[in-house]
Amino acid sequence: SLTLGIVGLPNVGKSTLFNALTKNDVLAANYPFATIEPNVGVVPLPDPRLDQLAEIFGSERIVPAVVSFVDIAGIVKGASEGAGLGNKFLANIREADAICQVVRVFADDDVVHVDGRVDPAADIEVIETELILADLQTLEKAVVRLEKEAKVKKDRKPVADAAKAAQEILNSGKTLFAVRDQVDTELLKELSLLTIKPFLYVFNADESVLTDTERVAALKASVAPADSVFLDAKVEAELLELDAESAAELLESIGQTEPGLHALARAGFHTLGLQTYLTAGPKEARAWTIHQGDTAPKAAGVIHTDFERGFIKAEIVAFTDLVTAGSMSAAKSAGKVRMEGKDYIMTDGDVVEFRFNV
Ligand code: GDP
Repeated sequence: SLTLGIVGLPNVGKSTLFNALTKNDVLAANYPFATIEPNVGVVPLPDPRLDQLAEIFGSERIVPAVVSFVDIAGIVKGASEGAGLGNKFLANIREADAICQVVRVFADDDVVHVDGRVDPAADIEVIETELILADLQTLEKAVVRLEKEAKVKKDRKPVADAAKAAQEILNSGKTLFAVRDQVDTELLKELSLLTIKPFLYVFNADESVLTDTERVAALKASVAPADSVFLDAKVEAELLELDAESAAELLESIGQTEPGLHALARAGFHTLGLQTYLTAGPKEARAWTIHQGDTAPKAAGVIHTDFERGFIKAEIVAFTDLVTAGSMSAAKSAGKVRMEGKDYIMTDGDVVEFRFNV
């Protein structure tokens, strides 16, 4: 499954956040015998729609979609120079499908900042620079090789050209993700570049920042169009120890309406390019993970490969239509249940039943 790699400078709150994520680990909670990698946190994607579905269908249980975060050992300036930890660090990022950077915005004189000051923009630049330098190293070798290949094989020319274009972008100090409209991700795939991965920013802030809407908006804008999440990692850890009422009070006291981990799971899911569709019956109400843009047969294949192979059609009702109608049969009589064929592109919130040949 797809993963987000958590990176950030030392002392920004990565471990604190990761510990909160693993305490919320659905694998640990639901599958006690599953092999759990110590550096992977698998968290549920909060989805209140599942509760509503379970109510309508009288489902016995709810199965949410999940998001996986991998804790990647701290980056330091010079990682791209390949010093010991640096190499391992870059290899770990290469394996992740998206980069989740934790950025310190909290002020705390007891927690040393590596560069002696709290400066989110500068911290982001330090990390980005290391990743850009690593990609430039990769490209330096690749371009020479690709140009040779292009001389004998015509179809290698577009790859060589894309690699050179990427070099230019990186040399101008930009990540490939920042200008992704100008980058041919498919052609560059074989090079496993780091800065082409989607970025997500987690601003680890304290109450004074979280309640300062202007500051939050400015930080959000500084990384847009990348997604960003604002939370207090220390509070997130505390929330998991509290009952619902005390947790709600604590959140309210820092101006939040939901745990930051919920927002983080949603943003992570979105950054990975994923979406869900829903199924429901007396046994379970469930969210299934697919890629944005997947067709109905592809979506069916996530439940079982036979469903994809023998796909006939999908019976689909939009979640909101189903809730308005109150039941599946009422939705049917209201004409809200559609039959979709193999070219149908799934929409978030589709409640689905597949028809297939076995
Ligand atoms: P890492 O090096 O990025 O993994 O950072 P840690 O999670 O180990 O945190 C470094 C220190 O900062 C620890 O003493 C944490 O308790 C503290 N810390 C982490 N998050 C917050 C926060 O949101 N607010 C405050 N005040 N301290 C935090």
